[in-house]
Amino acid sequence: MCPFCNRHPESTEHLFLYYDVAQHIWFSSAWNLRPSPDYTPTMVDWFRFIWDLNASPYSEVLGFSSVTLEAIWKTRNEAVHNNSSPSLHRLILTIASSTSNFG
Ligand SMILES: [Zn+2]
Repeated sequence: MCPFCNRHPESTEHLFLYYDVAQHIWFSSAWNLRPSPDYTPTMVDWFRFIWDLNASPYSEVLGFSSVTLEAIWKTRNEAVHNNSSPSLHRLILTIASSTSNFG
């Protein structure tokens, strides 16, 4: 089960793209990213989509995406290994502070 919502079977795509909080994080970014199972069903599709937004390998959107994926993964691991409920507040703060240096 997904450690965040306890409602869906855990999958990479659910965790990083379609889980409510993940969707909120992507959508509230500067790029209003909106993962959709119709257009970006797999992580590979999502990376391709992000990559196509800007061909520059060091673009801000790539930095934001890396920080977001890493923060979600760390929060998920802490929750699973400590058998605790994930701190979504801290997750969002981590992403915000890590990306405030961009631009
Ligand atoms: Zn979930």
